[in-house]
Amino acid sequence: MRKALFPGSFDPLTSGHLDILKRCLPLFDEIVIGVLNNPEKNPMFTADERCSIIKETLASIDSGDCSVTVTSFSGLTAEFARSLSANAIIRGIRAISDYEYELKMTLMNRRLAPEIETVFVMAAEEYSFVSSSLLKQVFSLGGKIDGLVPRNVIDAMNRKSL
Ligand code: ADP
Repeated sequence: MRKALFPGSFDPLTSGHLDILKRCLPLFDEIVIGVLNNPEKNPMFTADERCSIIKETLASIDSGDCSVTVTSFSGLTAEFARSLSANAIIRGIRAISDYEYELKMTLMNRRLAPEIETVFVMAAEEYSFVSSSLLKQVFSLGGKIDGLVPRNVIDAMNRKSL
C-alpha cells in the first residue's frame, strides 16, 4: 500500500497543484491532500473553504485506481504524515528558487520522520511560473487567470471579491 501526503497551503488550488497531483496518481494507491491551516499567513480562503474547493475540482477528475482524499491539518507536516501512516510526502518544484526552501524542509522532515521519503515532482512547463500568491495578486488587479486555476476556483475567487 503506497500512501502519500501532498501538503500545502492551496490558497487557492492552481493548475500547477493539479498537474502535480495528476502526475502522482499512477504512483500511489492513496493520496491525502493536506491543507495546512496556518492563520498567520492571512489566507484568502479559510482551510475549510480550500478543502471544499479542492473536493469540488476533484469531482471532475478521473483519479483511476488511486484514492484521493482532502483534509486540513495544523502543526508539523512530518507528524501529520506519520499519523496517516504515509510512506511519502509529495512536493512540487518549479524554478531553482524553490530548491533552497524545499531542501531545508525536506531535511528537517526527514529528521523528524526518517521513515517517510519526500518525493519531488515537476509540473508541466506552462505552470512553472504559477503560484497561488502571484495569481491572487494578478486577480486582485483585474488580470485574467483563466487556465491557470480550475474554473471552480475562479468562481470562488469572484464570490470572495464581491
Ligand atoms: P506551501 O505554502 O506549502 O508552499 P503551496 O500551496 O504554495 O504550499 O504549494 C504546495 C506544493 O505545491 C509545494 O510543494 C509547491 O512547490 C507546489 N507547487 C505549487 N505550485 C506549483 C507549480 N506551479 N508547479 C509545481 N509545483 C507547484
